[in-house]
Amino acid sequence: MTQRTAMPERGPGRVRCHVCGTRWSVRPRAPGRRGDEVEACPGCEAPLRLAPALDEGTARGLVLLAAGFAEERRHHGTVGRYLAEFTRSEHEVDRLLALAASIDYDAWAADNARRLARRDDARVRAVSRFLPRLAGLADSGALTEALKLPAARLKRRYRAEHAHHLAVFARRTTRA
Ligand SMILES: [Zn+2]
Repeated sequence: MTQRTAMPERGPGRVRCHVCGTRWSVRPRAPGRRGDEVEACPGCEAPLRLAPALDEGTARGLVLLAAGFAEERRHHGTVGRYLAEFTRSEHEVDRLLALAASIDYDAWAADNARRLARRDDARVRAVSRFLPRLAGLADSGALTEALKLPAARLKRRYRAEHAHHLAVFARRTTRA
């Protein structure tokens, strides 16, 4: 199965599995059903995960975290957890890493300066102070290095999970 961009088109209650591509309707939550119960794909049993926002903002959060920016650490913990939160597949991990690698730090600094000129914001100020150090880490390759191991680990996990769910999918299709 080829892995395309895993964007589930979510109509009213309709979702698309990011592993096997099955579309189904999410049931309305029955009263008494536990809130943390995860909807699973009827084709392969993969837990439903909606498409994460893979954009420059997400990539900026990732590099801030990788460089040890305090607020990001408090919110997201580790790089591994952050990557797992914002991706669902090996392909999405690669896309997020590519976004992180293509960050324009001068544009980011100019962005922040414009925002601060409009309205003071403690976080934007703190990020601005941190940016020179962050750009230095990006230049030296230290940032890429810090992302490498957690990304490889997560991609291994995704590969195993997807193989498992695709095997479930194959068993069900042959039985049907
Ligand atoms: Zn599925």
